[in-house]
Amino acid sequence: MIPLQGQSLREFLQGQSLNFMKKDTHPKYDLNTKATCACGAVFMVGSTMPEIKMEICSNCHPFYTGNEKIMDTAGRVERFNKRKAASVKAKK
Ligand SMILES: [Zn+2]
Repeated sequence: MIPLQGQSLREFLQGQSLNFMKKDTHPKYDLNTKATCACGAVFMVGSTMPEIKMEICSNCHPFYTGNEKIMDTAGRVERFNKRKAASVKAKK
């Protein structure tokens, strides 16, 4: 069940699904799913989805860019802080 030497991951997974997995119970695992980020970056990933859209990725996430600016879109940080304040109040 481990990849043979010289065998690509694709070949390995295809062999797995043919020989070891139950038929008709598994969604199709596509190794060429196009994952598009809001920042414009595009990745090819393995997924059961035909296409993936994401809001943040390793190309634009502050953890990877070293940019610590919080991206506050549509006042989400403000809304979160309000909810947090409300829940602290409710506990008392
Ligand atoms: Zn991104």
